[in-house]
Amino acid sequence: MYTELGLYIDGAWLNGTGRKGEDVVNPATEKPLGRLPHATKADLDQALEAAQKGFEVWRLTTAYDRAKVLRKAAELVRERHEQIARVMSQEQGKVYAEARIEVLTTADIIEWFAEEGRRSYGRIVPGRVKGVRQLVMHEPVGVVAAFTPWNFPTLTPARKIAAALAAGCSIILKASEETPGACVEMVRCFADAGLPAGVLNLVFGVPAEVSEHLLGADIVRKVSFTGSVPVGKHLTALAAKTMKRATMELGGHSPVVVFGDADPEKVADTIAAFKFRNAGQVCISPTRFYVQEQSYKKFVDRFTDYVKAIKLGDGLEKGTTMGPLANARRLDAMESFVTDAKNRGGKIATGGKRAANQGYFFEPTVITDVPDDSKIMTEEPFGPLAPIVPFKTFDEVVARANSLPFGLAAYAFTSSGATATAIGDALQSGMVGVNSVAISTPETPFGGIKESGYGSEGGIEGLEAYMNTKFISQG
Ligand code: NAD
Repeated sequence: MYTELGLYIDGAWLNGTGRKGEDVVNPATEKPLGRLPHATKADLDQALEAAQKGFEVWRLTTAYDRAKVLRKAAELVRERHEQIARVMSQEQGKVYAEARIEVLTTADIIEWFAEEGRRSYGRIVPGRVKGVRQLVMHEPVGVVAAFTPWNFPTLTPARKIAAALAAGCSIILKASEETPGACVEMVRCFADAGLPAGVLNLVFGVPAEVSEHLLGADIVRKVSFTGSVPVGKHLTALAAKTMKRATMELGGHSPVVVFGDADPEKVADTIAAFKFRNAGQVCISPTRFYVQEQSYKKFVDRFTDYVKAIKLGDGLEKGTTMGPLANARRLDAMESFVTDAKNRGGKIATGGKRAANQGYFFEPTVITDVPDDSKIMTEEPFGPLAPIVPFKTFDEVVARANSLPFGLAAYAFTSSGATATAIGDALQSGMVGVNSVAISTPETPFGGIKESGYGSEGGIEGLEAYMNTKFISQG
């Protein structure tokens, strides 16, 4: 029912024979699902060589023909989405309905970049001197090394793979060792779509060893990473040694500002549903709730009612609305956030503890009356915790919302057009949802500012991230 795991290098699948590896564990049962082989140093060198060779082939393939392969891969992901979603739910924990949406969105992303790759236009700038043609061209950056985490096992890799391939780059992806199966299945779709050998390579291993090896290679010209801020800084430093381009999609701590003129109950329903998606293990998950004081009680009551109705369970079981956390590290982290909040006077409106003896289940939790300098209000929780606090004025809440070093996503709700415009402008964040949570689509830029990183994935910006600009002055 799970899938066959392997490395994909130079167009061939490699298994565990003669390689070290690790067990992939189902977070709902803590039982092993399969054995994942780790790439040896020789495997990584082979991947680098293959990617260099693949780049030479792929960059000379026309954008028109590249699009055909990408479109076919998207079609295969769509055809196989139920199987891929089942694998994802088993290894990651998210409920099947969410896994299914993720896989279908993965296909949308690949398809969108297939199209956008054909629209990567240059321009002609009139020369100052007669007879001079000045051309601005876009060229693929070269071999890409990409690193993706465990929370979105196909969507995050697809953002990197599809953009890189659409731009004409080749790529070596190290996906998460904790959730490799769905990504393996997605890579199979690219292989079956006729992608030439070496253009896409998939490896696994000890993350720090793999990244050091790949980023130490001169031929890698770009790194794209999604994950935590400390690892992002480390990889940026490694990339700087050989001046590789970098896209860093790192953690955040997204404020939600609910003004007194918004309907508190309607907003509570919308934002609570969004908050507990993937058990809160989402980089743009709303994580700090500021509610204007006249609406505070109504909002907290309705939000808490919603949370109490969440049904925890195995993601593949019917009726489950929230699965386990993806790994034991998140469980420990949740306990530490809750303990700190309680020690600082925070009140637990619901939840607050582990939910079962087996599986990494943690109750969806609402915390109130917690001070702004507590751990939950200053560090990214990356889990099912919702701290809700009141505020008085616009200026006060803007200062509190902007007070952290992160700037990935932010949300605000108001019925006033003037307030909507003002808060959209005031929040320091790469993405802002005003009366909306729809801030992540294939065609719009996705990325953070401040310590949440730099560069965008998605949108035309996501394609440009894999292209160099070249100026040609032709006399
Ligand atoms: P972590 O920092 O150990 O790992 C995050 C990801 O980076 C993992 O996929 C890991 O395999 C990879 N990684 C770690 N060290 C690496 C290295 N030297 N080179 C290459 N890749 C490396 O943290 P974690 O325990 O997996 O998750 C904890 C925190 O990470 C969360 O609290 C959250 O802040 C952040 N996170 C963010 C995202 C996101 O979507 N931005 C996703 C997952 C985790």
